[in-house]
Amino acid sequence: MGKLFDRLAQDVRIKEGLKSCINCGTCVAICPAAEFYKYNPKTIVNIVQTRDDEQIEALLKSETIWYCGECMSCMTRCPRKNVPGMVIMALRSLSIDMGYFIESEKGRQQFALQRQLCGNILNYGYCIYPRTFQFREHPESGPVMKWTTENLDDVFKRLGANLDGEGPGVLRKIPQEALDELKAIFDVTGATERMETVERLSAQKAEEMGLTVDEYYEKVFNETGSCHLND
Ligand code: SF4
Ligand code: SF4
Repeated sequence: MGKLFDRLAQDVRIKEGLKSCINCGTCVAICPAAEFYKYNPKTIVNIVQTRDDEQIEALLKSETIWYCGECMSCMTRCPRKNVPGMVIMALRSLSIDMGYFIESEKGRQQFALQRQLCGNILNYGYCIYPRTFQFREHPESGPVMKWTTENLDDVFKRLGANLDGEGPGVLRKIPQEALDELKAIFDVTGATERMETVERLSAQKAEEMGLTVDEYYEKVFNETGSCHLND
C-alpha cells in the first residue's frame, strides 16, 4: 500500500464510497459526464483499488478526475454500493493538497471556479449570486440573461424576490452571523486551507507562464482545449 493510497484511505469519502468493484460498468452507463467527456468512473475506481502510488499519482495529475459533475447518479446504481463520485471528490482534494491539480488544464480551472463559487458563498451565502454574475464571462447564457443582468433590481422585484433585502424571501441578505458560520465550516473542514493552496499555486503557475494573476484567471476561465470531449 502506497503513501498516496494511505492518505486517500483516511478520507471518509473513500471509506464510504469504495468497497469492491466488480467491473460491471453500471456507473459508466448511468454517468452523464461519461456521455460527453473522455471519462470512465469505473476505470478511476479500479485504479484507486490497485493501491498503487504510481498509478494514483498519474490520476491525481490527470484531466479525468475533474470531469465528474458530482451528480451522484452512480451512487444509486452500483450493485456493490460504491460511489465513484465520492471517490473522485477525495481524489480532487488530494490532488489540490499535493499541488498536482496544476498539472492539468481542468485542474487549473479550479482557480476560477473557487474564486467565483466559493467567493460567492463566503461573501453572500449563495454559490450563484446575481450581482457577481458577469454577462461578458457567460455570453452563452444569451440575450435574455444579458438584459436581466442590466435590469437586475427591476427583474427580481417583479419576480417577487427580496434581493439583498432584510427579512425572508428569495435572495435575501444573509445575516453576518450566518456568513461567519459558513466561514467557520470552511475553516474546520480544511476548505480554507485548500483554497489558500489553490491561490498560492495558481499565483506561482501564473508567474511561471509570465502572466499576472488576473491574466491567468482570464486564461483558465476562458480557454479550454478540444482534448476533453468524446469524439
Ligand atoms: S457500478 Fe460499482 S461495481 Fe460496477 S463498475 Fe461501477 S463502481 Fe464497479
Ligand atoms: S457523480 Fe460523477 S461519476 Fe457519478 S454519475 Fe455523476 S458525474 Fe458520473
